[in-house]
Amino acid sequence: MAWTFFDRLLAHREVPKDRPAVDDGRGAWTYAELLDASGRIAATLLAGGGGSGLDGARVGLLVEPGRDWVAGLLGIWRAGGFAVPIALAHPEREIAYVLDDSDAVSALVSTALRPPLETPARERGLRVIDVAEALSAETPTAAADGQVDDADPALLIYTSGTTGTPKGVVLSHGNLRAQVESLEQAWGWTADDRILEVLPLHHVHGIVNVVLTSLWSGASCRLYPRFDAETVWRAFAGERPTLFMAVPTIYGRLVRAWEAASEADRVAYSAAARTLRLMVSGSAALPVPVLERWRELTGHTLLERYGMSEIGMALSNPLDGDRIPGSVGRPLPGVQLRIVDAEGLELGDGESGEVEVKGPAVFDGYWRRPDATRDAFRAGWFQTGDVAIREAGVYRLLGRSSVDILKTGGEKVSALEIEAVLRRHPAISECAVVGVADIDWGQRVAAAVEIEDGESLELDALRAWCKERLAVYKVPSRLAVVDALPRNALGKVQKPRLAPLFE
Ligand code: AMP
Repeated sequence: MAWTFFDRLLAHREVPKDRPAVDDGRGAWTYAELLDASGRIAATLLAGGGGSGLDGARVGLLVEPGRDWVAGLLGIWRAGGFAVPIALAHPEREIAYVLDDSDAVSALVSTALRPPLETPARERGLRVIDVAEALSAETPTAAADGQVDDADPALLIYTSGTTGTPKGVVLSHGNLRAQVESLEQAWGWTADDRILEVLPLHHVHGIVNVVLTSLWSGASCRLYPRFDAETVWRAFAGERPTLFMAVPTIYGRLVRAWEAASEADRVAYSAAARTLRLMVSGSAALPVPVLERWRELTGHTLLERYGMSEIGMALSNPLDGDRIPGSVGRPLPGVQLRIVDAEGLELGDGESGEVEVKGPAVFDGYWRRPDATRDAFRAGWFQTGDVAIREAGVYRLLGRSSVDILKTGGEKVSALEIEAVLRRHPAISECAVVGVADIDWGQRVAAAVEIEDGESLELDALRAWCKERLAVYKVPSRLAVVDALPRNALGKVQKPRLAPLFE
């Protein structure tokens, strides 16, 4: 069936002006204005050739979260393109990797974020389009409206895994529709909702759960370029949101900001937070002490859910009814989910095993990686690599099947990718990266290293060196210099034995 977000947005043209589609503090856009802006972006993209549509060509999106980012995404789709959201936190090397791997033909960019694109533009002929200039195009166009199919690729999300380099997750228009419809139903979204968006927009949490579900529902979305705790507390009153969604690290920071505030502010903050109808946490385990403290401060029992770039959201505590601390609830509408043993046999209540997922929200495969795609599925089920247990129908996550995947501040990180970079440091001869448990970050990136004779290494200097090569959340915040890493008889580093080094 032909379908685009555009079809759905058209239906929202009548949403009253006092409920804008998107707002980033520079002024709100109604749905009609957002449609117009996205048509201008499409016109600029198409003016570079391919007048009849981009036909799935990859277009990078390197724009701060705000009105322009949303118009950019919709503009890419309306031109028939395949959007590749790029992480703002990434250094030039990682941006170049994403542009190369995705084989992007063009990129929409904000003026301030242009510098890292100069080299790819020169070296690989990437067409760089300033989003502000595109928004001033003369005639809005939308070549692909009505022509995009469910199976057509919509979003390419880069995610770290058990390989040394991030892989692109291909989400089709049909996948996105299944994901947003499921959340709309489960969390009761309506056009009366208003949500604050403070998450980075290179990840499904911010893109799908917040921005796209808001647009799909005809609700309004107030976007901020980055998270700031005091701004959010004040926005609970000033912006009158009904919904808020974030990672556990953000809730931890909000708690600390509340505790540092004056008595009068604390009273105002708590009163404002109570007016929201729903607050959601996900992307990493929500520590029960954070859930309890949040309940004391705001009266909200955070709704914890579980999902992944490859599958969208899969499990959720209920909108109505008991939310169980430490659990991630039951399968969302449209999601088939089971727990299996190492052979792929389904397990019952009370037995722990790997989570497998199936359904229309699940991606088709990794971008140009048929082997990785084949390895990720078993008999049509996507193997998440997460270990869980079901008790009386309710699921609880127990960890991951690989020690090489870390979650820090809600960002998924590959230990192998960081190790590959560390090995290029002149003082490091060998290294191993692990995650160490941390109440604020979920896990912290910790590096155990062997160093070359006569060399020395300090954490600050290593961090400065890493920041030029890795996104800041991947940079180790713990360092242990050791004479010899613990190895097994085959010479493989025994990562579980590293944890005590960082206690
Ligand atoms: P990403 O693809 O970056 O969204 O990362 C997905 C991974 O985040 C999952 O495979 C889980 O390991 C983890 N995750 C997501 N939600 C939760 C949660 N509520 N509790 C624990 N881990 C989670």
